[in-house]
Amino acid sequence: MQDITDVSIALAGNPNSGKTSLFNFITGSRQHVGNYPGVTVERKEGRVPIDDAIVTFIDVPGTYNLSPYTIEEHVARDEILSPKISCIITVIDATVIERGLYFLSQIIETGKPTVVALNMYDEFEDANNVLDTELLSQILGVPCIPTVGNRGRGVTELMATALKAARGEIDAVGKVHRFSHEMEHAIDETAELLGEGLNLNRRWAAVNLLLYGESFANSGYRKVLPGDIYTKVDVIRERLEDLEGRDINSIVAAGRYGYAAGAVAECMKTSEFQALTPTEKIDAVLTHRYLGLPIFLLVLWIMFQSTFTLGALPMTMIDNFFIWLGSTVSSVLPDGFLSSLIVDGIISGVGGVLIFLPNILILFFFISILEDSGYMARAAFIMDRLMHFLGLHGKSFLPMLIGFGCTVPAVMATRILDSRRERLITMFILPFISCGARIPVYVLLAGAFFGQKYAGTVIFSLYIVGMLLSFIFAKLFSFSNKVPSPFVMELPPYRIPTLRSVLLHIWERAYMYVRKAGTVILTASVILWFLMSYPKPADTGHDGNTKLPSSTAIEQSYAGRLGKLIEPALKPLGADWRMGVALGSGVAAKEIIVSTLATIYSISDEESGHGSKSLQDALKNDPTLNPVRAYGLMLFILIYVPCLAVLSVLRREAGGWRWVIAMIVYTLAIAWTVSYIFISIAERIV
Ligand code: GDP
Ligand code: MG
Repeated sequence: MQDITDVSIALAGNPNSGKTSLFNFITGSRQHVGNYPGVTVERKEGRVPIDDAIVTFIDVPGTYNLSPYTIEEHVARDEILSPKISCIITVIDATVIERGLYFLSQIIETGKPTVVALNMYDEFEDANNVLDTELLSQILGVPCIPTVGNRGRGVTELMATALKAARGEIDAVGKVHRFSHEMEHAIDETAELLGEGLNLNRRWAAVNLLLYGESFANSGYRKVLPGDIYTKVDVIRERLEDLEGRDINSIVAAGRYGYAAGAVAECMKTSEFQALTPTEKIDAVLTHRYLGLPIFLLVLWIMFQSTFTLGALPMTMIDNFFIWLGSTVSSVLPDGFLSSLIVDGIISGVGGVLIFLPNILILFFFISILEDSGYMARAAFIMDRLMHFLGLHGKSFLPMLIGFGCTVPAVMATRILDSRRERLITMFILPFISCGARIPVYVLLAGAFFGQKYAGTVIFSLYIVGMLLSFIFAKLFSFSNKVPSPFVMELPPYRIPTLRSVLLHIWERAYMYVRKAGTVILTASVILWFLMSYPKPADTGHDGNTKLPSSTAIEQSYAGRLGKLIEPALKPLGADWRMGVALGSGVAAKEIIVSTLATIYSISDEESGHGSKSLQDALKNDPTLNPVRAYGLMLFILIYVPCLAVLSVLRREAGGWRWVIAMIVYTLAIAWTVSYIFISIAERIV
């Protein structure tokens, strides 16, 4: 027995192979969720005692490759290669085993010990498949263990084997597979050039240099590689591509698939009588050529409508709580600076955002069910077909799908696109895809002006408008493009989501939302409260202890003056300086629109007592607003300037401030135009 007591083991594999389920089972409640430094990709780890060791397990983002292009792949790669990790559990979905082996071939190339979890083994067996796992382990040179991630089958053996592999007690580095003769020659030549400063597996580095050239170097290896290596590798690659008559990606992919298919053919017996699987039957309807899209839209509509209806009750309760809190605090504290800061600034700002927690949770409840059941992948598939119809590359839809959550990772995900032109076009249509942070704003405005019955439909319509705009602009930008290349999308089988995974997902979202409310939104609320409270109007501010009176005081405050400055531009949209302040602050983060409105209306409601009514009522009673204007405003919010976080990744990803400026001008112009056209037409009709 060795005396190692601290071991780290990473779980890696394709998306949906069951990594997180296994991870959850292994670590139970002992997990810690954070982000990778510098990026918004989630990092989960958990420490578990096994025998005499404390083992840290890490759930690595799911990927198909370890390329340097997408942020997930980059992060996954660095995690896997990290010297701290002494063994990798490669999680393979046994029902699509070849795809998993394709990924495994890359893990084996890194030279790290690995143990394979043949997950989804229940489904694999249900389909009457038989696999000789002994033989497979021998062929691959790594232990292969059947597991059922969501029920815990095989997990104990998996953990014990992985620990042994990590300690070098069993042989688990695997047998590196061979590419074509020409490719192997190119690998040898490239490996020769690598120099000495590299503590990476040389074969792995050579394959990656051949595949990705400078992009590989730029993803963290430039310093350890000889400066002139790239041009030399380019020469080697060109010669290889000439010799084989196809490009490097096909050469490598063919090698890996060949290996995977070969291993499967050796070890697996597929049942010969296969009726239509349940998945195939369901898919015949859900991804139907004509029915698919309407069904998808219906699902979306149901999701938004129930987000709204089910959220209404808890929302009122939280709202009442904050109203109560506000009036209690203001009755306890003497009127003045502190009371106003706490009640008008902090409680109404942060409270104004927290009210929407139930809606966010319900929405993510639906989304996690759609994701876990496998329907989300179908939605992507249906949209992909539509994108092709519009002459766009299907791959562009992946960043868009991510954009429904948050635009920041979506912009980074454009790296999967091949040409810079495609990347830029996709980045410029992403702002039309409504991100999660806008939900509170929609719920607030739609709820105030359209009532419970129609609010869900109104929000749904905003998403549709956003998607239509993205299609229209994509088409405008790419009108001269050649026909896009086909793109294969994987459809995982349908599964019944487990309660455990859904709850965990919701819990994570709740935590993130509350954390944002407690940090970013709190800070912004305090700053905005200050900007809205000072300078005090000269006639009332004699002792600095005066109550803040009515909206005239805010009008003369710093924020009010800024709002007034943009008011002329908003006038045609029926919005006044108060919306100007809200929209302006919303550039920092979209939820801040809600907290700013809460603060504005709370301060200017002073005559009727501290925050005595809810923001929705206050908006409803505002004579300058009506349903048409509210919808126009929501359209504006849907489209206008993405938040600061997005602008900053845009600068990095698009390469330069001019793209940021272009984005700001372009989104403002479109937002204004769309909103204006809508209001002009709607006011005439209504
Ligand atoms: P990840 O993307 O690799 O983290 O995959 P998840 O752990 O999120 O699993 C995806 C889906 O597969 C979830 O709905 C799980 O409940 C389900 N799942 C995971 N492992 C198994 C398994 O061994 N058998 C079956 N039938 N379902 C599983
Ligand atoms: Mg996962």
